[in-house]
Amino acid sequence: MIYTRSIGDIRLTNLIEYVGPTHDPFVTFPDFDASVVARNRDWLTNAHWYANLQRMVIAIQIWIVQTGDKVILIDSGVGNRKPRAAARMHLLNTLVPQWLAAAGASFDQVTHVVMTHLHGDHVGWNTVLDGDRWVPAFPKAHYLMPRLDFDYFKGLYEQNPAADPSFGDSVIPVLDAGLVDFVDEGDEIAGCLRAVFAPGHTPGQMNYWIGEGHQQAVFCADIFHHPLQITDPHLNTAFCVLPEVARKTRRDFLDRVADTGTLIMPCHFGWPHCGYVRRDSRIGAGGFAFVPAEPDLPQRN
Ligand SMILES: [Zn+2]
Repeated sequence: MIYTRSIGDIRLTNLIEYVGPTHDPFVTFPDFDASVVARNRDWLTNAHWYANLQRMVIAIQIWIVQTGDKVILIDSGVGNRKPRAAARMHLLNTLVPQWLAAAGASFDQVTHVVMTHLHGDHVGWNTVLDGDRWVPAFPKAHYLMPRLDFDYFKGLYEQNPAADPSFGDSVIPVLDAGLVDFVDEGDEIAGCLRAVFAPGHTPGQMNYWIGEGHQQAVFCADIFHHPLQITDPHLNTAFCVLPEVARKTRRDFLDRVADTGTLIMPCHFGWPHCGYVRRDSRIGAGGFAFVPAEPDLPQRN
């Protein structure tokens, strides 16, 4: 599935690598309890929650930004043929290369691959298999990754390369090819993205803001995995490396974007995969509600 919308003259496309009711909330959120669903039942459609499975809908998205002559990917999904511990990510064989080409972001067209953080589901299409070697998928692109995350995940990988092979098969090959630049707080990228530090989920996670004034949007990565973390912002995932920092970042982010018209574009939300935050003390436990974006209309090819 591929959806496109615009902010000013910037074209934003989200390509879904896969989506489905994959996550048990009691596993994903260590602090989850059944009252969370009960409080939020009114808006929990099948876009986000399958009651009969008791599973949350989670997507893996690759966002594409097209402006002027720039073709920018925000995060690069899981990738094909990568050995991974989680069954839903293991040795995928999707049509992402063809879908990228259909969106005008083929391997040769992409100018920048910008990572919010370096978990394995955000770096996978950095590389493809060439014989038995992982090589850069986007040979003409600058690969930009948060410096603090690079240092953190490099340390983990050097301690135990087998624990999470994604650093070895998806980060090191682009580094060795000389294609990597590091991102620090406040950097401007490709003339259109502003990097804002959003730590907690990982130590170096970045958000990337785009647009101006009333036409602002933000790639907010894994501050949220699911809209339940907007209504119930105390919910951290089991993968949040710095739990208290992650909660503070989430609350500060909600305060910043609520009622501003800022389009939030996380990686993992179900359809329509992006939206807005408004203040609403009647919903959830946090005083915020998720407002799905107007869905993109079907288009003729
Ligand atoms: Zn993720």
